Amino acid sequence: MDKLYKTFKRRLIVLCMAALAVVMSVMYTTVYLTGANDIVEHLELSAKGVAVSIANSLMMNIDEYKSFLETRDINSEYYKKMQTYFSDIKNNSNIKFIYTERILDDKTTEFILDAEPLESSDYSPPGSLDKNSPQKEAVYSSKSSIVFRVAKDEKWGELLGALAPILDRDGEILGMVGVDMDGSHIYNHLSRLNRALFTIYGFIIGLSLVSLLKFSNVILNPLLKDKLTGAYSKRYFDNFLHREIVHSIRQRKDLALLMLDLDHFKKINDTYGHVFGDKVLSSVSEVIMKSIRPNDYFIRYGGEEFAVIIANSDMTRVLEIAERIRKAVEDTPIFNEEQNISVTITISIGISNFNNLSLNAKELVESADKALYTAKIKRNMVSVYEADRADGSV
Ligand code: GH3
Ligand code: MG
Ligand code: MG
Repeated sequence: MDKLYKTFKRRLIVLCMAALAVVMSVMYTTVYLTGANDIVEHLELSAKGVAVSIANSLMMNIDEYKSFLETRDINSEYYKKMQTYFSDIKNNSNIKFIYTERILDDKTTEFILDAEPLESSDYSPPGSLDKNSPQKEAVYSSKSSIVFRVAKDEKWGELLGALAPILDRDGEILGMVGVDMDGSHIYNHLSRLNRALFTIYGFIIGLSLVSLLKFSNVILNPLLKDKLTGAYSKRYFDNFLHREIVHSIRQRKDLALLMLDLDHFKKINDTYGHVFGDKVLSSVSEVIMKSIRPNDYFIRYGGEEFAVIIANSDMTRVLEIAERIRKAVEDTPIFNEEQNISVTITISIGISNFNNLSLNAKELVESADKALYTAKIKRNMVSVYEADRADGSV
């Protein structure tokens, strides 16, 4: 695989992966936000649901609740019953605290019922004071339930709070049920969602990368290469040559251009037909590719004309390569099945050397063409362009 193919492959992979990363991050953000929203909403609803159902059950026996408000006797049957009821719910859900309160003034509220056992440090006896809050005021004024995030507290961490009003028969508000859900549930759910998304996306990205590495040629070949011969398409020739010239100047390295043209190819077509002509083109291309190094560029320049760009090789070496190509083509006859004969093909090659002549790309091509023209005088030969010979002869 030559270096330009590698560059294209790298670019294709980087481009595809970047596009995939953008798509994935948009998808990730959308899915995560939607999922996170759903999770929080679900937990909020369940906290609110618990608060509302406890308030409803208290309201079914509102007289008992009212008389407890009078006595606040923690040894009463009602208190014990309610405490058991609350702690039962608490123990069978992700609720951390259940209590009832009523507002005393704009700064304070007082606890009434509590799920905690009397000996617990979190136990709040009836009549003990708590802070009033805008949320509690909102429940009183709207007489409807609300749910809210309680700011992170050192003792209890983050909580999800829900408040539901306790209404008397005539609709007067007597207090509210408070339910605090452990906020860490939100983070547990979110981190599970995160892990699941990362696993799925990691898998997709990994799979795409492996597929790209494995099948990039499926995309690149039709884009870069000529179908019949497997050589690079002419449209990349200028690009390659320009790159190599820049590289050669920068690195002070040799650069040579070979122009190759099949001899009497028209006669091959006329004698054996176009289909065989095509077979000749692809077979000769194979022979040429085997004769050059993976880093040399092989381009189909025209119908039966090819170019090879050879970097980092001095002229002796370039001549060796050209001669090797010429000989390999001559020594590889192509079998014609229809007529059951092997047809010998020859090729003429013109060479121009960038470093010796300090040419620009256009002049380099023209010089190689001139050398090819010289080689064509005899055919099946290699010719090097020499600047001091205006006719290009060697
Ligand atoms: P010379 O030795 O001087 O190069 O003579 P030539 O016959 O090889 O050159 P000429 O330019 O006269 O003919 C080239 C022929 O190549 C003409 C064209 O029909 C044929 N050709 C071009 N592209 C293709 C192709 O893709 N397939 C086939 N079968 N023939 C092609
Ligand atoms: Mg020809
Ligand atoms: Mg030609």
